[in-house]
This record gives sequence, structure tokens and C-alpha cells, in this order.
Amino acid sequence: MSDTERISTKLDRFQPSLTLRLKESANRRRARGLPLFDLGLGETKGDLAVRIRDAAKSAYDQGRTMYEDPAGIVELRRRILGWLDVEDHYGIENVVVTTGAKQSLLNVFLAVCDPGDTVLMEAAPWVSYQPLVLAANARPRAVVAGRGEANFFKVGADDLEQAIDSHDRVKVFLLNSPVNPTSQVYSAEEFAALMEVCVRRGVFLLLDRLYWRIIYDGKSYPEPELSSQNLKWLIQVDGISKNFRRTGGMRIGWSVGPADVLKAMINLQSHCTSGPSVPSQWGALAAISGDYDFELRDELEGLRNRIYAARERLAPVKVWDSAGAFYSFWDVRACFGKRTPADETLETSVGVAEYLLEHAGVVTAPGSAFLQEGFLRLSFAMLPGEIDAALDAAAGAFGELR
Ligand code: PMP
Repeated sequence: MSDTERISTKLDRFQPSLTLRLKESANRRRARGLPLFDLGLGETKGDLAVRIRDAAKSAYDQGRTMYEDPAGIVELRRRILGWLDVEDHYGIENVVVTTGAKQSLLNVFLAVCDPGDTVLMEAAPWVSYQPLVLAANARPRAVVAGRGEANFFKVGADDLEQAIDSHDRVKVFLLNSPVNPTSQVYSAEEFAALMEVCVRRGVFLLLDRLYWRIIYDGKSYPEPELSSQNLKWLIQVDGISKNFRRTGGMRIGWSVGPADVLKAMINLQSHCTSGPSVPSQWGALAAISGDYDFELRDELEGLRNRIYAARERLAPVKVWDSAGAFYSFWDVRACFGKRTPADETLETSVGVAEYLLEHAGVVTAPGSAFLQEGFLRLSFAMLPGEIDAALDAAAGAFGELR
């Protein structure tokens, strides 16, 4: 074996993280004691709810640390059906608990894709979608959203149909709603049109609904219709990482879908991980039991509104509407060609992100990480006291461009 053969060639196609360089730069600023506003990482802030903490702690105290059902503890799987309000359509055989939503996604690709099958993704896919599809030896392809910028990269039924026609062996269409990075939410009608295409063409619709409790403007999540034909092709992925505070590291997610697919996923998981950490599952059960407390959503909505209030100050940048999740998507193309005080010309979203960081201490994620050059993603899940200073710093930096 030669030195170049030591690592699987499929990993050659994993792009090194575009945000890594920004992280190093942020760490240097932090070390020098300079102000830093972290709008880079998508993680909620604040304290872990006491009931979640106590449930996980008491699982340890009671020695609930032995191997469990590889599909997840029965109590949690049953509760997930209630959390999603789908008890009339599914039983616990339709649910598998996984190590975060990420592992649910990987399990789906491994369970349904053969090598070379195509997985279609949205026009601005979240950074890990491509690597996860590649890890399953399938081919990730972004759907081109044809209806223009006004539609915020939303994929329409025609776009999807065209993509199914133009790629070989399309097995899955992966839809994220609310969308990371654009924070748009697909309406019930938009979803139904995409689902209809998937059913008619025999393609799984994999719905990543990880942020579904965080929907703004008094609206609630547009639930997919669970007709018998949809049930055959719809797989939903969810988890506790985003709809609660400080729960990302508990690593609990789940999938709900047709029994044949779920059986394959559970079989796979029984060999890969034997299921996620059992005490974390007890913590997750506490998280999703009882009524959902919308105070996190309300706090995030207040932060979103602070960003809306700063729109004019942020010119020439255009701030898109955020209908859900906690991202603000900024069109920074008007900055291209402008010169910074250090006499550098901005030409890419990475360049704008670097400038904001170096000049104003504002950490963002460049749009190119989501296949959309010309944009920045800002995660506004920060403590309320920090947002105005961060926006002032960003506005100041944009104002100094010539
Ligand atoms: N899907 C989306 C859209 C995400 O934003 C994330 C996390 N950032 C994940 C899946 C993975 O979630 P988890 O941390 O539960 O694995």
C-alpha cells in the first residue's frame, strides 16, 4: 500500500471547514483581550433546564447505565410520538433514537442508499449534509432553486422535479425546515407540493426539522400531512439540540418514518453504536415531556427583532427575514469591490467574514460554506445583552468601506 492509499479516497472529497481559519483568528483576538462577538456557532445559550439536568443525573444515580434497546429506551420513543403529535400514525417501531440528529441523517443515508445513489439537497445546504452523504458513498447534489432571490433559495416542486430528471438514481430529497442557514420556513403548501413530487417519483423526502419549535411571528410549525401515501416516503429527523438551552452536547436526536426503513436503521445502529448514551436519553425524555416552554423562542424572537431594527444601519448589506431557527442571512454582495481601511478589496464572502472579524471582532459564517457565495450567516442565539454591541460593531465596519 502506498502512502496515498492509507486513507479512504471518499474523504478526499470532504472539504476542510471554511470556518476553521476564522476560528483561529477569533482565538487570536480573544488571547489579545480584544472584543469578540460570536455569531458563528449555532448553539443556544443560557442554563440547562433543571428538570433535564435532574433526570440525567438521577439516571446515573440509579445505575441506568447498562446497555439498552439499540433503538432507544421505550419510554423516550413513545414520548417522541407524542412530542411530534404523530401517535395516530406511528408506533415505537417507527422511531429510533440516535446520537444527535447528525447520526439520524447518516443512518438514513446508509440504510436507503446504495453506492452511487443521489441525494438531493436544498440550494443552500447546511455544512454537514454533503460530508454525511459522501460518507454513505452516495452522491450529494444541491437542487438549483429557480425562482430567484425573492424566494430566498426555497426549492419549488418544479425545481425538484427537474433535479430528479437530471440526476441518476435519485433516492432521497433532503429538506431542512426551518432552514439552516437561511432561517426560512417552508409553508404547508410548499411542503405538500414537494412531498407530492417525492411520492409520485418514488423518492424519500427526508425532513430535517431540528429547529421546529422556534417559529416566529405567532406561527406554528407547518406539519406535513401524514396521508398513507406520504407515510411511505416521509422520514423525519429531529432532536433536542436546538429547541432547548445547552442540550447540544447531550447528543440526542431521532428519526421517525416507515417501518421498513426504520427496521434497517435500527439493525445498522445495533452494530454501530448500540444506541446513544442512556442517561442522556433520560434527560431528553424530561426535555420533551410536558408542555413545551416557549420562553427560548420568545427570547430569540426579541434578538431577531433587534437585528431587524438595525437593518438600515447595516447598509449596504441586505438582511433577509428570519421566519424560524436563529440565523440571520445577510446578502453582502454590495460589499464586493469595496476597499477596507487596510486598503484590501473585498471579493468573497470569506473576505467579508475575515474583515468583520479582524476589524470589528464579529464572527460569522461565510455563505460559501453553504454553497452560496455572496452571503453571510449569523447565529443570533446569543445572550440578549450582547446583540446591540455586535450589530454596532458590524455596522461600523460596513460604514468604513469605500
Ligand atoms: N441539522 C441541522 C440543520 C443542524 O443545524 C444541525 C446542527 N447544527 C444538525 C442537523 C445536527 O444536529 P445534532 O447536533 O443534533 O447532531
